[in-house]
Amino acid sequence: AVGVIAVVGRPNVGKSTLVNRILGRRAAVVEDTPGVTRDRVSYDAEWAGTDFKLVDTGGWEADVEGIDSAIASQAQIAVDLADAVIFVVDGQVGLTDTDERIVRLLRSSGKPVTVAVNKADDQNAEYAASEFWKLGLGEPYPISAMHGRGVGDLLDAAIDSL
Ligand code: GDP
Ligand code: MG
Repeated sequence: AVGVIAVVGRPNVGKSTLVNRILGRRAAVVEDTPGVTRDRVSYDAEWAGTDFKLVDTGGWEADVEGIDSAIASQAQIAVDLADAVIFVVDGQVGLTDTDERIVRLLRSSGKPVTVAVNKADDQNAEYAASEFWKLGLGEPYPISAMHGRGVGDLLDAAIDSL
């Protein structure tokens, strides 16, 4: 069986944009409105000769009621079913309380986690990614899902963790 990589993080950090970048086509729905991806959606993907399944999720607001908590539970299910996780944060916004809560959930899952610091669209933004070392999840990979910057190194690391 091929490995399963779940892409999780807060709404609007760029998870679906990253999934589309990895797939090389526009399959996942990208929206300016947070929380648009409501379900887990699984795609067949390939990188450097390795086939894997890539699961896009609706985002993780660990702390809210109603529809958002339904989305969060889809993210939890995705992690439970995954072999490895790509945890996406927003390098332009920086570290948030929600990010830290998600990290605790990810830690308790015991799954290998690769941190993607998205929206690092230029060289200066790449330096800001080092803030995310303090999550204690290893090397943070600055990426621009929109432009493709850094996505190859991120995938190398995530697939290595499978
Ligand atoms: P999701 O809710 O985490 O799936 O986020 P989306 O993929 O829907 O993206 C949310 C917003 O962030 C959209 O307006 C995207 O165009 C924007 N976005 C995604 N990736 C990047 C990036 O690398 N750089 C910048 N500047 N914006 C991005
Ligand atoms: Mg999405």
